[in-house]
Order: sequence, then structure tokens, then C-alpha cells
Amino acid sequence: METSATEILGLSNQELTDLVGQLGQPAYRAQQLFHAIYRQRISSLDELTTFPKSLRAAMTEQRITLSAPKIDKKFVSVDGTIRYLIAFPDGQSVETVWMPEGDGGEAGDGTDAGDEEEPTSDSNKKNYDRATICVSSQVGCAVNCKFCMTALLGLKRNLTAGEIVGQITAILNDHSVDLDKERINIVFMGQGEPFNNYDAFIKAVRLLVEGVGFPQSRMTVSTSGVVPRIYDLGQEPVRPKLAISLNASNDEERTKLIPINKKWDIASLVEAARAFPLRNRERLTFEYVLLDNENDSPDNARQVVQIIRALGDKADSAKVNLIAWNSGPEIPFSTPSDSRVHAFQKILIDAGIPAFIRRPRGRDIYAACGQLKRTQS
Ligand code: SAH
Ligand code: SF4
Repeated sequence: METSATEILGLSNQELTDLVGQLGQPAYRAQQLFHAIYRQRISSLDELTTFPKSLRAAMTEQRITLSAPKIDKKFVSVDGTIRYLIAFPDGQSVETVWMPEGDGGEAGDGTDAGDEEEPTSDSNKKNYDRATICVSSQVGCAVNCKFCMTALLGLKRNLTAGEIVGQITAILNDHSVDLDKERINIVFMGQGEPFNNYDAFIKAVRLLVEGVGFPQSRMTVSTSGVVPRIYDLGQEPVRPKLAISLNASNDEERTKLIPINKKWDIASLVEAARAFPLRNRERLTFEYVLLDNENDSPDNARQVVQIIRALGDKADSAKVNLIAWNSGPEIPFSTPSDSRVHAFQKILIDAGIPAFIRRPRGRDIYAACGQLKRTQS
């Protein structure tokens, strides 16, 4: 019987150690592999120059593969944002977005995502030293939020940890990023609900931290509110910062917009947020997509104030990121005027809640929040 192929992009240090053992090789080969795959970001076994040719040949013989995801297409926005279509061998594809100056979603306070760190004055940095990569966790999404274009795809399949990490390494390579010199943020805010693919998502996080070299403070994961996984994330020794997509100020409205609110309502979200252990100086983000005349009235803003206050001790660590809805065909909402957005923001700020308006990035190429649906042109 033919042995099945083993893909090494996505394997942990331990899994590589086991594999190397099966090949009858010494354990240091696993360290070399781990370093080459994640830190050097090689895209094929041929680049594995620390391995003798004979060993590389033996690996190929054993059907060990390294298939980095391929950049299929690139769409460049007038604002510099790039939307990548990343293709996998099975014909599926997802989008990954490069935002040269972020959109405020990484931090929400106008600073870098690593707000635990001091700004640096390193003059070697390129002009995108605050760039943010928005990564997908699933192909499509099953949550079916009424304002989101990814929902129209439905869920095609989960991504593996290797496919999540591979999106990031492909884009870092495309920009020849040196992570020792450049400060890049990652947001898990592309296609998919990361907490509906939790194991692969958290494994990818570990590989990004231990292998690729991202500090955990430079990563943020956004969830539509899969409450049990919020508790799980709180227990992880290595984890991104948490953002919760609130998007409505009461249960009736939220259930209409985000169907899983029937299962996990606003009170259960608040409870999970209260229990979520924050690191030193870490903030908890609530995202709120503003839909014109739907959830953006002054009354809605006042209800959001009440929700934040219900966080008790955690209220002081909370902030709200406001996102004016990014439009898309087939979706029956409209984008509120700037004055409505500012009026909403002012009510939060006057109540002492930090509230920031996210800059739309790449709307012209369907790269902005909620616009990822594999548009081909
Ligand atoms: N599935 C996760 C993460 C991806 S969506 C989640 O829903 O949280 C990232 C953010 O974009 C979420 O806060 C989501 O509410 C928001 N969003 C979705 N569709 C949008 C749209 N059309 N315009 C603006 N923001 C949108
Ligand atoms: Fe899925 Fe997030 Fe879009 Fe909702 S907003 S459908 S959870 S990707």
C-alpha cells in the first residue's frame, strides 16, 4: 500500500521531532527543519540547504512535502492595501490582506497593536513598519452575519494550521519582511470565524510566536461571540489579544444580525469578557459595525455604554472600535454618514469609554472588513 503524503508546513516542533525520528535522523534535524520552515520561511524542500541532498531525496521518497500556499492574484488599492487571493492545492482559496499602515483594528487607539511596547525610533525601518496582515481562518464562514459578504460564501472548509501560517509567510516573503527590523501586526479578521476552527487557529498562533517570530502582543483575534472558546482562549499560555464583535446594543437586534446570539446572548458575552484574564496593560476590544438607521442611533450608543459598564472591573480595560459598514452587492444595509458615526462615538467618549473609528482600507478592491468573498476582479 502506498504511504500517504506528509505535509510539514504546520507541524509543531514535537511533530517534526517524531518525523525526523521515523527517518532515522538525529533530533537536531528537527530543529533545523523548524527554523527553515518558519523562521527562514522557505517555500520548498529544495531550499533546505542545511540538509544533505541525499536526505532531501529520502524525504521526497517518503512523500514528505512542503507546499507553501501560492499567491494566485493580487489586487492593489489606491490606499496601498493589497488583497491577496491565496490558492491551496485542492482548488480552494482564501483572501489575506496587507495594510501598509493598518486600519486601527490592531490597536484601536491610533498606536501600534503592541501597546505594551514603547515606540521605536529605529531609522532602518521601511515605511510600512506598522503594517498589518489580516489572515483568514476558514474558507468562507458558517455564522451568517447579515451584514457580511463572507457569509454569502457559506462555509467551504476549515483551514489547517499550516494554511493559516502559510498565508502569513507568503505575504511576508512577498514584501521581503525582516521581522527583526520591522513591526508587523496580525489580525485574525479575514474570512471565517476563528473560534469555529479553534485547534488549527491556536496551533497557528503558537507557530507564529515560536517559529516565525511574532510577539503575541502583536496579534488580535476577533470572534463573533463563540462564548465557550472565549473561556478557552483565556486559559492559553500563548494567545492573541481578544476582540469581540458586538455589532448590536440589545439581544433582539443582535439575534437578527448575528444568528448565534440566540445561543450565546449579550449577557453571556459580558460574563465571558468579565472572566477573561488580561495581561499587563492589555485591553479588551469590542467591535461595532455601524449600519445606517439600524443599530447606529443615540439610544443604541447609550445601550452600548450600559453593556460596557456591566463589565465591572473590566470596563476600565475595554475599548470600542467603530466600523462604518463597508458596502457590498446583495446586502440590504447602508453606510451611515460621518456625522452619525461621530455622534455615536461622542456618546461613548462622553461616558468615559475609549472609542475609535476604524479607517476603511481597500474598499475599492473589496479588501475591507466584511468584504472578503473571493471577488475575482
Ligand atoms: N469572524 C470574525 C472575524 C472576521 S470579521 C468576526 O466576525 O468577528 C472582522 C470584523 O469585520 C468583525 O468585527 C465584523 O463584525 C466586521 N464586519 C463584517 N462585515 C462587515 C462589513 N460589511 N463592514 C464593516 N465591518 C464588517
Ligand atoms: Fe463570519 Fe465574521 Fe462574517 Fe460573521 S462577520 S459571517 S462571523 S466572517
